[in-house]
Amino acid sequence: PSSSDMPLLAGLNTEQRAAVTLPAEPALILAGAGSGKTRVLTTRIAWLLQTGQISPGGLLAVTFTNKAAREMMTRLQSMLPVNVRGMWIGTFHGLCNRLLRAHHKTAGLPQTFQILDTQDQQSAIKRLCKQFNVDEERFPPKQLQWFIGGCKEDGLRPGDVQAHDPDTRKKVELYQLYEEQCQREGVVDFGELLLRSYELLRDHAPVREHYQRRFRHILIDEFQDTNKLQYAWIKLLAGQGASHENAVFAVGDDDQSIYAFRGARVGNMADFVREFHVQHQIKLEQNYRSYSNILDSANALISHNKHRLGKNLRTEQGAGEPVRVVESSSDFAEAQWLIDEIKQLIRDDSSAAPGRLKQASAPLGGSEDTPVPSVGANIARKEMAVLYRSNAQSRVIETALFNSGIPYKVYGGLRFFERAEIKHALAYLRLLENPNDDTSFLRVVNFPPRGIGARSIEQLQDAARAANQGAGSSLHAAVNAMSGKAGANLSAFVAKIDVLREQTQGLTLREIIELVLEHSGLVEHYRAEREGADRIENLEELVTAAESFVSIEGFGRDAEATAAAENAAPDADGEVLSPLAAFLTHAALEAGDNQAQDGQDAVQLMTVHASKGLEFDVVFITGLEEGLFPHENSLSDFDGLEEERRLMYVAITRARKRLYLSLAQTRMLHGQTRYHIRSRFLDELPEETLKWVTPRNQGFGSGFTPQNSYGPGRGNGAGGGAWNSGWANASRSDSAYGRDTGSSLSSSKVVEQAQEAATGLRIGMSVFHNKFGEGKVLTLEGSGDDARAQINFPRHGVKWLALSVAKLTVV
Ligand code: ATP
Ligand code: MG
Repeated sequence: PSSSDMPLLAGLNTEQRAAVTLPAEPALILAGAGSGKTRVLTTRIAWLLQTGQISPGGLLAVTFTNKAAREMMTRLQSMLPVNVRGMWIGTFHGLCNRLLRAHHKTAGLPQTFQILDTQDQQSAIKRLCKQFNVDEERFPPKQLQWFIGGCKEDGLRPGDVQAHDPDTRKKVELYQLYEEQCQREGVVDFGELLLRSYELLRDHAPVREHYQRRFRHILIDEFQDTNKLQYAWIKLLAGQGASHENAVFAVGDDDQSIYAFRGARVGNMADFVREFHVQHQIKLEQNYRSYSNILDSANALISHNKHRLGKNLRTEQGAGEPVRVVESSSDFAEAQWLIDEIKQLIRDDSSAAPGRLKQASAPLGGSEDTPVPSVGANIARKEMAVLYRSNAQSRVIETALFNSGIPYKVYGGLRFFERAEIKHALAYLRLLENPNDDTSFLRVVNFPPRGIGARSIEQLQDAARAANQGAGSSLHAAVNAMSGKAGANLSAFVAKIDVLREQTQGLTLREIIELVLEHSGLVEHYRAEREGADRIENLEELVTAAESFVSIEGFGRDAEATAAAENAAPDADGEVLSPLAAFLTHAALEAGDNQAQDGQDAVQLMTVHASKGLEFDVVFITGLEEGLFPHENSLSDFDGLEEERRLMYVAITRARKRLYLSLAQTRMLHGQTRYHIRSRFLDELPEETLKWVTPRNQGFGSGFTPQNSYGPGRGNGAGGGAWNSGWANASRSDSAYGRDTGSSLSSSKVVEQAQEAATGLRIGMSVFHNKFGEGKVLTLEGSGDDARAQINFPRHGVKWLALSVAKLTVV
């Protein structure tokens, strides 16, 4: 079809149009950043609807975040008159939740099952460990959480796990107990949402066949970051291998696969092509987002990766400005420089901006002909993003922004639904829905304080365990068995919740929340607190959130029945969720998102991980130092390093018009000042696209060539394999440090003292070690007896050496 008979297709290039209009068969759109993958996917949905190939109920689309799902729906609505409510567009978690609600009986869940976010899950596990006297030194709850999550992602129930050693056997046992606890309390964690709905489809042919008949088209964005279980889920829904197969339309970019540490499997792409016999593979090679200096930098960088499917990206937008590189003396200086630069960009002097750049591409969801300001002046704050590799970096930047009065918003930090006061309020609300939710019970049984101490809780937990011949019962049910003062206090609490439940019958969601805030004593409690004003404001914001949820979802006192049916499919008996239950589900799923909701015009702060799929006029990538980005946990590992490079590729390609790369010579991290060498990624960028705003420091790491073999595997201290290669916690791998005793060396240049390290050893310097040979100093840390250096020995990999022990000569 030509674009003249299909206005939808106007503005797309030939490949994009071909992708949008592919026949109803499996297809893979493999394309680089900013080439319009998400746009193509959205347009294909519109096209399928408009040409009458499907009805809104006949497709399922998976997005990476809830925010992306909302954007997609808004965009669809602007393209054609369609009621997007009730369409199955959402994240894996969101869609699985929906399936489970609709078939909760078959799936073995109460209709009002509650979702545990990561925080809740951890406290549930801690509680379990306490109950069973688990040695938390030996089995840290966090590690158990990884273990359980990892098993679930591999589709393994406790009975399926191969345990060959006592430690694993113990973990499996705890996994089993955790499952029983969740089941008893009627709660599911994020991993369970997926696994349970996978099992629902796998084990129940009528349910499976129903959805296979229904979803003729399944569309998936960011396919490169799907994990094993998600892919298996897609296969079931698509009826892969069955007589009729639904059309799976997957879009992705192998160069942007950045969640391997959390189980993502880029190999799903190859499996998909093979198992679905994909005949239609389309590459999109034109980038519509960035100027070519930015794009060339990204292309050059990623070409250093060996494991690639290979594809090109070009732009017709011209070179644009050079990529600016700025080196500061410290992380504080970096933050100050950021503030100055941001102020400069906000300043309205568009008339005087030299070398103005014309805008060439409209933002996603934006209108094509809106004039966009030139770079260098009057840029909206929300069009600026400050990206960092580790969450820990944000504090210094936040403080500087705060002090300068520039509004900013942190994505992926403590999100609204994760704040303590909000979680307290939600816990009361959850108890109204499900009295057996022990996590919520424990959260608020003595909050605000009502004289129920730890002793009473312990007694109550004992009573719960003793009930029902060992099967245990919920805390709420066990209250009856309590006597004395503790019993009276606990009964009063349970009665309070029961009364609240009575009182909220027939009220709107807003009224329910207001009632609960008042009668729980939360507002009163915070009013008496010195710093409580903020919290009360947040609690009021909860009412607002509920209000806007009602309007989005179409719940309302009158329209409840019909609108609720649109929001969550009724279960087999035609039952639907109450507005409160739907809101609580929404809150839990939002808390699991790594992106926040849109808000006021504020500078956007986020980790590189959270920036995936987004775009901004101006992007600052901070902390470009070895050990930070690439992260030190990745340095000794080839795959880890390639993933870091993909992460850097994602970061660079977020920028439309202007890109800043920033590094600091020293940085306070975890209470220590560290000296860093500049990131190898800077040296992998083409000279001609860069402009060094501060002088390029020659001694600073020059001549350092990245190696592909960084010695032994990474120190996997806390265990848990891929689960704990935590990008958010920058703990140093201690594998080499401190173990080296060195050997004698006779030279006048032996460095023995840390004081000398500051002067005698410099970053970038070549040194000689008797055992490891010649190497280059990457990092210097600490002082006195504690002084140490990170050194890259080409033949032995990167090592940390204690300078008071290891004998080094300067070459
Ligand atoms: P990422 O890999 O980062 O997720 P993507 O491939 O999904 O990127 P989109 O976000 O869909 O890319 O598109 C990038 C930008 O280019 C968006 O602003 C989009 O509106 C714009 N764009 C895409 N195709 C075209 C086109 N044919 N003409 C003009 N602009 C386009
Ligand atoms: Mg995209």
